[in-house]
Amino acid sequence: METIRFKEFGILVDSERTREFYKHQNNILEDCSCSDCDYFYNTFSKLPFSVYKFLSLSGVDLQKNLASEPTGVQCAVENNNLIFCDQDCLFFGKLPKEELEFTYIESNLNFKVYFYHISDYEIKVQINLSTN
Ligand SMILES: [Zn+2]
Repeated sequence: METIRFKEFGILVDSERTREFYKHQNNILEDCSCSDCDYFYNTFSKLPFSVYKFLSLSGVDLQKNLASEPTGVQCAVENNNLIFCDQDCLFFGKLPKEELEFTYIESNLNFKVYFYHISDYEIKVQINLSTN
């Protein structure tokens, strides 16, 4: 376990277990071939957003699919720009509080990031971002 900072909080993370978990998940493009998922996979998930940096340090692979209908990512793309995106992921660790909620603007996008425990040791993260 290690502590990784996100904004003003230090979050205890089991990145090794999280990385191992993601190894066994399907990649998004194996589960959906729509152009939104393609854009998310090939372009958007690689952008250097602070929450994406936190998640990848925590062992999360944003290009893997955790849901199945058809993917854990719902998004809308217009003129090759993502204007809306809703995604869920999870990692193993412990939050300093039962839940953490963040609302901020980064790269002209409105982010809402919500962390909450689904069990003692599992944390779900919901990320919602949009251009307005
Ligand atoms: Zn899709």
